[in-house]
Amino acid sequence: MATHQAPVIVWFRKDLRIDDNAALAAAADTGRPVVPLYVLEPAEAGTGALGAAQRWWLHHALEALAGNLSGLGAPLVLRSGPADAVLDALIAETGADTVHWNRRHDPSGMAIDRAIKAALKTRGLAATSFAGQLLHDPTRLLTGEKKPFRVYTPFWKALERAGEPQEPIDPPARLAALPEPLTSERLEDWRLTPARPDWAASFREVWTPGEAAAQERLATFVDRAIDGYGTDRDHPALDATSMLSPYLALGEISPARVWHATRGLDAPTGDLVHFRKELAWREFCYHLHFHFPALAEKNWNDRFDAFPWEERGEAFTLWTRGLTGYPIVDAGMRQLWRHGWMHNRVRMITASFLIKHLMIDWRHGEKWFRDTLVDADAASNAANWQWVAGSGADASPFFRIFNPILQGEKFDPDGTYVRRFVPELENLDAAWIHKPFAAPEAALKSAGIDLGRTYPKPIVDHARARERALAAFKALKAD
Ligand code: FAD
Repeated sequence: MATHQAPVIVWFRKDLRIDDNAALAAAADTGRPVVPLYVLEPAEAGTGALGAAQRWWLHHALEALAGNLSGLGAPLVLRSGPADAVLDALIAETGADTVHWNRRHDPSGMAIDRAIKAALKTRGLAATSFAGQLLHDPTRLLTGEKKPFRVYTPFWKALERAGEPQEPIDPPARLAALPEPLTSERLEDWRLTPARPDWAASFREVWTPGEAAAQERLATFVDRAIDGYGTDRDHPALDATSMLSPYLALGEISPARVWHATRGLDAPTGDLVHFRKELAWREFCYHLHFHFPALAEKNWNDRFDAFPWEERGEAFTLWTRGLTGYPIVDAGMRQLWRHGWMHNRVRMITASFLIKHLMIDWRHGEKWFRDTLVDADAASNAANWQWVAGSGADASPFFRIFNPILQGEKFDPDGTYVRRFVPELENLDAAWIHKPFAAPEAALKSAGIDLGRTYPKPIVDHARARERALAAFKALKAD
């Protein structure tokens, strides 16, 4: 193949979109043939082992991406194996002299990318990386002393001062392709989706993966839901948040596209700023993870290393199954199982319950969420778990222990959310919906509840659990 016609490989990772994809747009601009590639890297490498729920999502995201790329004229090539070996083989096969990708920011992924870039350069090949996963580069958004931010509020202020994130780029109109199609592995052979049993069937009640669905969700949110977001976002029964997190996690939509879609919106300023502040939380988590790569494994605050965690045991299993006897906790854990997603307020309540009521190490919860969330994200998951535990950067203090009854009464006052996910409590009067264990026998009976049989009694007593957690924390402080 003549040198000037050497194709450009575009290596897709957590940027499974054609819109606002700088690596793809730059490849299209060369006018040379484009080879879009997705590599299923070994579990321990690259973007990190994806959990089961996100593997389901990945399957459908790749299907959608492949369709979009075919529409542009360049079919997606699927290959599995270590990324360096896959790229070497594809370069040899196609005569490509340039590889493009959008930067990822997880420590293991970055290490692989650095090594590949260096190896390609020594062979006289070009490896060019672009921005796209974040609004701002973690090496640039720093404190006045050029240090990483450890506290969110100054981070947000710096992000505001940094000005508008870069303008999103529209998808290319057309891609030049190689004259002969390349061999590609079959997506079905990757077995990303569960077969028997198909536990992901219920995900379809709420989710349509793919870039088009992401754009649609964004448009709907911007049209309707953002109005009132600031207050409604805490109420899990309301459809008040964007539900864009799984699309952002695998990059089916870019944060810049989301940010700019809210520009000039006719929404009350408070709501708009609040929404942008949430996007900035995502950003903060990524920047933390970038600067502190052990965020998912180690307590940020090492004083917590001495915390007397309980064994994982039976209580952990009951928590994962939504059988703790605290309805708001159980509803959250069952929403997670049924839809691969949980409302943010309830994520905080369920995480707090595991860490503080059951005194189980946050890392077990982080792993469970990573396996079951369709939006699992190494940075956001770890940073938020550590935030709840009190061990993280700018964390909620440990002694702030969520009362699952009061939280339920405040944020799900008539129990709509609980009834949706814990049907055995469906007919219980709102007065008792968050504390069936305190309900008079007659109220239980008329709702068809036999406590301890149709719905569990609480696995721990709230007041006693709270005291135990506080005592453990106090002992820790005294060390
Ligand atoms: P919206 O309210 O519409 O917010 C818009 C976007 O802002 C979200 O899509 C998300 O990208 C970002 N965002 C919002 N809140 C947060 C936050 N607290 N931290 C970081 N980013 C945020 N989010 C993940 O994307 N992946 C995770 O693995 C994850 N694990 C979490 C674990 C725990 C224990 C907790 C308390 C929170 C976790 N979150 C995680 C953050 C948050 O719950 C979700 O991002 C949010 O619920 C997604 O819903 P949404 O898209 O409707 O959010």
